[in-house]
Amino acid sequence: MSLSSKRILITGGAGFLGSHLCERLLGEGHDILCVDNLFTGHKRNIATLLDNPRFEFMRHDVTFPLFVEVDEIYNLACPASPVQYQVNPVQTTKTSVHGAINMLGLAKRVRAKVFQASTSEVYGDPEVHPQPESYWGQVNPIGPRACYDEGKRCAETLFFDYHRQHALKIKVARIFNTYGPRMDPNDGRVVSNFIVQALQGRPITIYGDGRQTRSFCFVDDLIDGFVRLMASPDEVTGPINLGNPGEFSMLELAEKVVAQTGSSSKIVFEPLPRDDPRQRRPVIDLARDHLGWIPRVSLDDGLQRTIAYFRALLT
Ligand code: NAD
Ligand code: UDP
Repeated sequence: MSLSSKRILITGGAGFLGSHLCERLLGEGHDILCVDNLFTGHKRNIATLLDNPRFEFMRHDVTFPLFVEVDEIYNLACPASPVQYQVNPVQTTKTSVHGAINMLGLAKRVRAKVFQASTSEVYGDPEVHPQPESYWGQVNPIGPRACYDEGKRCAETLFFDYHRQHALKIKVARIFNTYGPRMDPNDGRVVSNFIVQALQGRPITIYGDGRQTRSFCFVDDLIDGFVRLMASPDEVTGPINLGNPGEFSMLELAEKVVAQTGSSSKIVFEPLPRDDPRQRRPVIDLARDHLGWIPRVSLDDGLQRTIAYFRALLT
């Protein structure tokens, strides 16, 4: 092992983002321990990594303690799609909160640096637009999204208390909607839903009037932000927004997907889920100034690469 090579634990490593992070860090010569209970992740996401002697997969639920020797921890374990995190909301809160406690406890024991995959959902249905990290958010604490939103907010609280109380090195990223190859075709998120529907010639389901907005970041850009944040000076703890500030309505997204796939699918309107945020756009000045990070991939280019992935997956 070279001097700069680290032992890195990635929880949720068999998921969409986690598998890309495993790949990136393996490529940099690190030893990767991928921990996942495969609730929303898949072995197919890490299939090409299993033969690499520096890669190890462990099936484990982060709500239970874990004892391993590592230098860095990326804590990504948690279902991220509203459909999936509402399947078993109690387990979602446990995964965020007990998972954070277990990973922080591990980090404290082995003095590892620890990264938390937080979310723009901490801003809830925001009254401040676009959202800077200083905004405390507007979250319904008892609604159907609360298991995820409040779980992630509590995890942030734990990270900052471990930092203040135990001088732990922490890195908290607030991730805005990210898309790309290896999204689960069935997990209900908007980009994968629209692309799969378009490729299969089924109606494109817009919830509500389609005027709600989101900012979509391509996965490669996001993973680059993760790695830069982990490598940043210790005083850069975050929370730090990582997302693409381009803002699109769901109607605009649907039209782009139909045009790029050449689909004959029609758009249909379905009821808006409760507490669905009306708008989302990150302020990324902190990421630009502290990490030298800005997203490079436009929505059109990223969609093209994601459509190619789903085309291959579905045929
Ligand atoms: P994903 O569902 O593809 O990945 C989550 C992974 O965590 C899956 O592999 C799943 O099996 C695993 N997991 C779930 N519960 C677990 C448990 N109790 N123990 C062990 N493993 C468990 O979702 P993703 O998009 O890759 O999201 C990864 C992380 O990034 C999540 O923490 C999510 O909240 C956060 N995030 C993602 C986005 C996004 O747009 N993709 C936005 C904001 C935040
Ligand atoms: N959405 C939609 N049709 C779908 C899936 C989602 O119109 O088939 C909408 C959803 O109501 C929300 C936006 O797309 O306004 C983003 O939804 P997603 O579940 O991807 O993420 P989140 O709401 O967590 O940002």
